[in-house]
Amino acid sequence: MASPEVVLEARSLRKEFRGFVAVADVNLKIRRGSIHALIGPNGAGKTTVFNLLTRFLPLSSGTIRFESEDVTGIRPDQLASLGVVRSFQISAVFPHLSVADNIKLALQRSSLSPLSFWSSRAVPEADPRVLDLLGQFGLEAFVDKKAGDLSYGRKRALEIATTLAADPKVMLLDEPTQGLGHEDVDRVTGLIRQAAQGRTVVMVEHNMKMVSQIADTITVLRRGEVIAEGSYQQIAENAEVVEAYLGSKHRKANGRERGTP
Ligand code: ADP
Ligand code: MG
Repeated sequence: MASPEVVLEARSLRKEFRGFVAVADVNLKIRRGSIHALIGPNGAGKTTVFNLLTRFLPLSSGTIRFESEDVTGIRPDQLASLGVVRSFQISAVFPHLSVADNIKLALQRSSLSPLSFWSSRAVPEADPRVLDLLGQFGLEAFVDKKAGDLSYGRKRALEIATTLAADPKVMLLDEPTQGLGHEDVDRVTGLIRQAAQGRTVVMVEHNMKMVSQIADTITVLRRGEVIAEGSYQQIAENAEVVEAYLGSKHRKANGRERGTP
């Protein structure tokens, strides 16, 4: 049954790559306003599920519903215009453009149709939304800096800011902390928490500490199947999860510091 609490729902998602079953019968209900993390060992099918949800990959079978409407057959850009927007695993900012121009372009892109994307109808310099996004992401001091010259963490902040320019209802992030040092992980974690105000966030993430701090719901995938779902506490107590995935990493990250077994 559709519920107004569920903003995005996947039913019986299946994806085969030339006979190899990468995702088998995955069901997901993403609650409105939640931060929902997909975790699991390498090759579990996280990125594939992510690409299915955002329509970047065609499904072998299954259905996807957004706001209770069947969106299984629509294109990624159509889904984005409905409010389901992904940020890319590899920073998708334009490195030769300034920070401010990247944000302006993102705002322009979100307010124009694809055909007029490159038209000269520019977002004005003093558009309050530009300043707002820059401020929100601690990028004011870097407005004129080329995006390509930013630190990796600030580039990630800019990438999230450009995704937010579209004012998505559901924002999807694939490994937002990948390649970041400790400080930048903390910064990006804070930014995602902030970005999640008033919207839903779905993320694939490897960093368990970060997931434990931020995710309301965690779905654990293994070999293309969901093996557990719940809060961090719930999945951390699940023997299959601990064995299949968390292993020594979990004990290191949480055992000594928090006194859990
Ligand atoms: P994860 O993101 O959890 O590490 P993936 O979704 O990337 O896992 O991959 C799941 C499985 O599907 C892996 O075994 C991977 O090799 C396979 N796979 C992913 N994409 C393709 C593809 N385009 N063609 C063939 N096999 C793929
Ligand atoms: Mg992946």
